[in-house]
Amino acid sequence: MTQVAGVRPAAAAGSRASGHKVGVLALQGDVREHVAALQSCGAVAIALRKPSDLEGIDALVLPGGESTTMSLLLESSGLARELASRLEDGLPALGTCAGMILLAREVLDGRSDQLCFGAIDLSVRRNAFGRQIESFESELEVSGIPGGRMHAVFIRAPIVEEVGPNVAVLASLSLADGRERPVVCREGRVTVASFHPELAGDLRLHQLLLSDLEGD
Ligand code: GLN
Repeated sequence: MTQVAGVRPAAAAGSRASGHKVGVLALQGDVREHVAALQSCGAVAIALRKPSDLEGIDALVLPGGESTTMSLLLESSGLARELASRLEDGLPALGTCAGMILLAREVLDGRSDQLCFGAIDLSVRRNAFGRQIESFESELEVSGIPGGRMHAVFIRAPIVEEVGPNVAVLASLSLADGRERPVVCREGRVTVASFHPELAGDLRLHQLLLSDLEGD
């Protein structure tokens, strides 16, 4: 088996080649890690920088980074409108951290002009885990993925404040005050995580996105 430098072949990653075209928003953030994860799953990763890059994509990944910056660049690149319309038409999507913020219905503590696509019925608060734990790692139980247990890297992560009636909470985190907060959520074919599976080399949420495309 030949291996492209730095990219694990799909068989080694435990998945079969999907060949699906997945667009990764490539304006800012940890784009490279998501591209590598998708390639490891056998998908074709397309960097999205302008509206014409959306042509023929089957699914979307919104990476981690800074949602405020991405929001500005989405507007100036012209991608905001096109992506909003594709998401409204049911484009399957995965968003991690800043990507979760962009896919949510409501963003608290964002810029007043910050955009969000409303592709999943969540209200999220930016940077809300508090200063002393701005970045931390945790072990989670995630339902709906093989193996269940996941190592999660949280970096200035958003907190989910409200979950709509059609949203499934796949994983939660217990906070020091005893409250449980959703950290992986899914509505239809839109999945979001407030942490970064792509930084931990975990492919299972990308595989979940690709499994959403089966039968399309
Ligand atoms: N705090 C960032 C934001 O508001 C998200 C951080 C991240 O993606 N790691 O967009």
